[in-house]
Amino acid sequence: MPRTMKALMKTRPAPGASMERRPQPGLGPNDVLVAVQAASICGTDLHIYSWDPVMRKRIHPPMVFGHEFCGVVEKVGSEVEAVKPGQFVSAEMHVACGHCLQCRIGQQHICQNLRIIGIDLDGCFAQFVRIPASNVLPIDPAIPPDYAAVLDPLGNAVHTVLAGEVAGQTVAVVGCGPIGLMAIEVAEACGATAVFGIEIKPERIALARRVGADAVFNPKDTDVVAAVREATRGTGADVVLEMSGHPQAIRDAFGMLRGGGRISLLGLPAEPVKLDLVPDVIFKGATVQGIYGRRMYDTWYRMLSLLKAGRINLEPIISARLPLDQFARAFELQKRGEASKILLYPNGIPK
Ligand code: ZN
Repeated sequence: MPRTMKALMKTRPAPGASMERRPQPGLGPNDVLVAVQAASICGTDLHIYSWDPVMRKRIHPPMVFGHEFCGVVEKVGSEVEAVKPGQFVSAEMHVACGHCLQCRIGQQHICQNLRIIGIDLDGCFAQFVRIPASNVLPIDPAIPPDYAAVLDPLGNAVHTVLAGEVAGQTVAVVGCGPIGLMAIEVAEACGATAVFGIEIKPERIALARRVGADAVFNPKDTDVVAAVREATRGTGADVVLEMSGHPQAIRDAFGMLRGGGRISLLGLPAEPVKLDLVPDVIFKGATVQGIYGRRMYDTWYRMLSLLKAGRINLEPIISARLPLDQFARAFELQKRGEASKILLYPNGIPK
């Protein structure tokens, strides 16, 4: 009889989720089974839990969701040599095909046939998760274990910040949710001369200051474009990182960019956004980048090096730690927007 495990599942196409008993995943020759130590809730998970329209076509219940985690390798498939049982690991949850044009020229993060564990395949809100061995990353013991549960969003932040020059540059981070907060820390760690946060929510404004933003401007009471220009001697920010996905925030982001600057867009707007390309992009000579996922595996090695060197403190960004059984409370906290990153422990909270 196959061994069973606890798993938080989307069992039907409706709001909510339920804790189920189901068989542990079987392994193919190149797979690894990981006992999940800590998993973290992403905005995408909240969309899945709440059954928001954006997820209804993509998610096919019954399935286990969750895609940010760390854990200990339980067992490995017959062909796996590089990963060993007992290793503490995290993993890239975007599974690239390895065969399409992008994959073959080193752009696996935008693979044409990308599948995501926790969205297209069973995820990590469970006691065990199956991962292809080539997606597994061993975690150095010098890195605090809980940080390994949030490498997916930290990787988004590192990918965005390091998609162009940042040393000796002024950086504006538009939207200070978890990834924005991480981006502030990464930009500071990588030598930005000043980092400005743009944020509306008071708790997030306080956190942005706490993680090291030189100034935080609130669009509710401030002309944020004018404020960033003023803080940069009238020129605008060298680098703007858009992490909110809010249409007006995106227009402001272009407005606060200096001529010749770089704007990197990570936030996902829910609908098409109107921009004025002539002043904001063309005459400005702006470099505009779309950012998706993490570079495999350039982003991972840079991120792990920054963590190992102690350059990034994620403690202020981890706002709650709960056993997986308390998922309903966790999603309620997440929904209220008061929490930053919430960690869930499917195998109990380690002492
Ligand atoms: Zn591919």
